[in-house]
Amino acid sequence: MSARKLDGKAIRDSVLADVASGVEAAVRHGVRPGLAAVLVGDDPASRIYVRNKVRACDRIGAYSETIRLPSETATDRLLALVQELNDRDDIDGILVQLPLPGHIDSRRVLAAVSPDKDVDGFHPVNVGRLASGQEGLKPCTPRGLIEILKRSRIPIAGSRAVVVGRSNIVGKPAALLLLAEHATVTICHSRTPDLPSVCRQADILVAAVGRPAMLTREYIREGAVVLDVGINRLVDAAEVDRLLAHAPARLRRFRRTGSALVGDVHPGHVREIASAYTPVPGGVGPLTVAMLMSNTLLAACRRLPENGRSSA
Ligand code: NDP
Repeated sequence: MSARKLDGKAIRDSVLADVASGVEAAVRHGVRPGLAAVLVGDDPASRIYVRNKVRACDRIGAYSETIRLPSETATDRLLALVQELNDRDDIDGILVQLPLPGHIDSRRVLAAVSPDKDVDGFHPVNVGRLASGQEGLKPCTPRGLIEILKRSRIPIAGSRAVVVGRSNIVGKPAALLLLAEHATVTICHSRTPDLPSVCRQADILVAAVGRPAMLTREYIREGAVVLDVGINRLVDAAEVDRLLAHAPARLRRFRRTGSALVGDVHPGHVREIASAYTPVPGGVGPLTVAMLMSNTLLAACRRLPENGRSSA
């Protein structure tokens, strides 16, 4: 029996449709959510990420602004810009695209963003709010995982969840969000002994490792739900042939383009053993920008008259 493929693009579209309705309602109350994206230097991947975020703002009817600074920008200049954006009433979300050039003190810059405008959810105040169960902006990719489960009607409460990876941007917040949804959560990392047997206990298995197809059949319990956060670009033909043997269309695309994306979970094994899984690409990835839009709307709600602040 082949597992149910959880279609991240369809779920993203339904999240964005809901966010767009929320934006429309906010605009009726005089509040147009606004996102400022700060891009330092000319890293091509960062430019594409920012462009996609700006397009998503257009799609939901939010205001957006991209501020481009040269790569030699000093930390103090960036801190002053963040302060200006913190002070602006028409900007609800501030996104400093990472990575910043090496000479910039990234930690100081991120900590300077007002926690209420921290739409990436990385500010220590928001990390503390998440850990202590208080309201706050939460990281986008982990929020996307919860959204996938909920919109696919996969129960979280009472389930046993195993998260492989303990990074601050994915693994740890994903575990905290699953815990807040009443899963029983185990977090694993590179020092976890006998990882396959720990993973095999999972009803919900989250892979956020950054190692192509590391979670093979021995890591997956029959009938588990598997969420694959990993994004790994492969160029080695023998490896791609081995991992995508079940997917001739993807092999043909690899022959044309010279690269293929795979997650941290073995793409052939997961569909034989899991009950449901997110593919790579097209699973968890599309949700990240959608949840950024959702966070921008949530941040803007602070300006609604019923929340006690006048709108800009
Ligand atoms: P990090 O490199 O920050 O963290 C990787 C984690 O995996 C670490 O906790 C590490 O353990 C653990 N790990 C590494 N090797 C092993 C191993 N052999 N066994 C068990 N655990 C191991 O990565 P990120 O969390 O930032 O990203 C993870 C993946 O998710 C990447 O592929 C990234 O590209 C992708 N990603 C996708 C996003 C999306 O939108 N879909 C967004 C963000 C990331 P330890 O702490 O012990 O070193």
